[in-house]
Amino acid sequence: MPVIVQKYGGTSIGSIEKISQVAEKIITEKEKGNDLVVVVSAMSGETNKLVELAKSIDKDPSGREFDVLLSTGEQITISLLAMTLIKKGYKAISFTGSQAGIFTNSVFNKARIETINNSKIKKYLDLGYIVVIAGFQGVTENGEVTTLGRGGSDTSAVAISVAMDAKECQIFTDVDGVFTTDPRISAGAKKIDQITSEEMLELSSQGSKVLQPRAVEFAGKYDIGIRVLSTFGDGSGTFIKKENDGRMEKAIISGIAFNKDEAQLTIRGVPDQPGIASLILGPIAELNIDVDMIVQNVGEDGLANFTFTVPRSDFNNGLKSLEESSKKLKAKKVIGNNKIVKISMVGVGMRTHPGVASKMFSVLADNNINISMISTSEIKISIVTDEKNLETAINVLHDAFKLER
Ligand code: ASP
Ligand code: MG
Repeated sequence: MPVIVQKYGGTSIGSIEKISQVAEKIITEKEKGNDLVVVVSAMSGETNKLVELAKSIDKDPSGREFDVLLSTGEQITISLLAMTLIKKGYKAISFTGSQAGIFTNSVFNKARIETINNSKIKKYLDLGYIVVIAGFQGVTENGEVTTLGRGGSDTSAVAISVAMDAKECQIFTDVDGVFTTDPRISAGAKKIDQITSEEMLELSSQGSKVLQPRAVEFAGKYDIGIRVLSTFGDGSGTFIKKENDGRMEKAIISGIAFNKDEAQLTIRGVPDQPGIASLILGPIAELNIDVDMIVQNVGEDGLANFTFTVPRSDFNNGLKSLEESSKKLKAKKVIGNNKIVKISMVGVGMRTHPGVASKMFSVLADNNINISMISTSEIKISIVTDEKNLETAINVLHDAFKLER
């Protein structure tokens, strides 16, 4: 029988009533003659509560103990869902990541799945069971419990789909699918019916919260189709497929994502000499701060200005480090801005349609929106601007590129 993998996120199973509704959805799919493997997250808010408990003891708790704790959220939901299915008259069995045979490396808190031994899952499917597996967790060769990083149950679901050679990986959530942009920001936001995994990966990496980027990457690599659907509606959701198979209309722009979790740091008036960039960024890297965009420009006076973005949570540490570098380099000035937003337009059609960037910049200029940084890739253009411009920028771009159609 064809295997369908379904994943239910925290809001879909946030109460006993909701778990019962989810069970009905699973049963409907089972009754169509499919084998069902169901991956679940913790109930909504539970993982955050566990994180808070740990941090109330130690801001930087032992990685091993942190994972033992965080993995309990999903252990609750797998058992409750399996009980519900059994009560409704179906054969069901729950497995933790370790019981299911999900092996990871030993990097606690952000482990990567290495292999899945699917024999136990297969055995129970063959016996007619609905198999319910805890997302977000795995086990090392040495039997240590690991977790995959926040939002990791998407990745669990995709990895299990690959291991089971599933027909489809269905990710159930509280929205109807992937939208052209955040409907809370733009009333014109429209659900996308189909999108390539390449575009989805850019949207996820640039701030769209629907799917964990690693899950999309994994699905693209192994050519697994993902469908994002609403748990409590009946639409067909958004289908994410590796290749553009011709049925997909080639949109120039598929979606606009934004990220408010970054901050901008600038050092002005540094000597324009080899090695300066590494003198500035070296200490930042030593603090384990990820740098995203970087811009350097040299003025007529032969002095350079250097601007880069870092996660907003690293703003204060980054600023301090830059002030120290500034003294050493005798720079003119250090400026920090943590009220910025990065806005990214994504679309495979950009490859064949020149002029997307210039149109984006002129639309923003016409609306008096100042751009402080720009970066591009083959299918993406990102700009940084003041956070106060977020709504206007998204709405005028959404209109100008006719995304509501
Ligand atoms: N419960 C975990 C989290 O909140 C994993 C997930 O929901 O995907 O990050
Ligand atoms: Mg999630």
